[in-house]
Amino acid sequence: MSNSNSCSCSKTDQESSKKILFYACSGGANVAEASDKACREMMSQGLGSMFCLAGLGAGIQGMIQQASDVDLNVVIDGCPMDCARKIFEKLELENVQYMRATDMGLEKKAKGTRATEQEVNAIVSHAKEAIGVN
Ligand code: SF4
Repeated sequence: MSNSNSCSCSKTDQESSKKILFYACSGGANVAEASDKACREMMSQGLGSMFCLAGLGAGIQGMIQQASDVDLNVVIDGCPMDCARKIFEKLELENVQYMRATDMGLEKKAKGTRATEQEVNAIVSHAKEAIGVN
């Protein structure tokens, strides 16, 4: 039987030696979509794992413990509403690096606008530089 407090989406065969978890606000806006896709791209590059922000927001203790145990949680919000950051601030974890897509030159556009590949790449580049990985 599976453990309801564990989440297999934190696991990848390409993990780096420094354990990093990526989170995106994953909201409905283009900047949120771009943040989400950037996290998935960095996971596919073997820089760490994307983890479930919703699980932390829901207070799932096993998932909060995983976030507490890693070297770094990289939290990417789409806009200054900082929804993901606010979830993390409630958890009072110290191993967190925050970033925001609109601080990287992305513009939050009208509802229904899709994220572009260029926007996703801009976030990936910024995040990799910010956390010192290639
Ligand atoms: S941070 Fe901005 S883009 Fe992300 S979920 Fe919140 S309001 Fe939406």
